[in-house]
Amino acid sequence: MSHLVFRVFLCRADNYGVLINDTATGKTVSIDAPDASVIMAELDKSGWSLTHILTTHHHSDHVEGNIALKKRFACTIMGPKSEADLIPAIDQQVGGGDLLSWAGHTIGVMDCPGHTKGHIAYHMPSEAVVFAGDTLFSLGCGRVFEGTMDEMYRSVSQFKKLPKETRLYCGHEYTLSNARFALSVEPGNVNLQERAAEVNERRARHQLTCPSTIGAELAANPFLRTDSPEIRTVLEMNGETDAKVFAELRRRKDVFK
Ligand code: ZN
Ligand code: FE
Repeated sequence: MSHLVFRVFLCRADNYGVLINDTATGKTVSIDAPDASVIMAELDKSGWSLTHILTTHHHSDHVEGNIALKKRFACTIMGPKSEADLIPAIDQQVGGGDLLSWAGHTIGVMDCPGHTKGHIAYHMPSEAVVFAGDTLFSLGCGRVFEGTMDEMYRSVSQFKKLPKETRLYCGHEYTLSNARFALSVEPGNVNLQERAAEVNERRARHQLTCPSTIGAELAANPFLRTDSPEIRTVLEMNGETDAKVFAELRRRKDVFK
């Protein structure tokens, strides 16, 4: 019976490293490669040998470890085909709708343009887990660098359709500042208040806030709650489209202190 073991840890300042080991086959995948030495140390601690890297997008804080990890483990690197020329040592180019097979598990690829043009996410339905990179964060979403606000709205909205119990792994530990922004636009949301208190406590104890779940995000993440009457009132955007509310939230978050 195959069984997956997850290890989550911080890399660099606030990037998440995620390693998953399949106990039946010994295969181990890293979600992105923010820091080769930290990832190698985690692998050594666990006695795991890296077989795959799943890349979400080309930003250096997600691919910087590719070459060094490949040198040591000869691992297979998969990543988004539309920005493949920016992913060091990429072996396999994938895109939205592709179904990958890893250690007997099916992984679906979701196109998520916005943060970067070719950003992708990885969904493993059998384990109820999704790796969202810098598209959807716990209580927030990624900055829109290369795509349009409309693209980012559609990319983020795809996650609403996943089963609520799906565990959400994201690219950064930004939850504390995301919670402060979320409270500024939906102060009366009790689910958000409880979540913010929990996040404050966890971070004060240097614990991680990853993974979240899609259900928890639907209840508290403003970027998934553009239909909230309170958010629309705070933004003075009653009667506007969800995409416009989303774009305004994102613009406000960009300058939020
Ligand atoms: Zn990024
Ligand atoms: Fe990043």
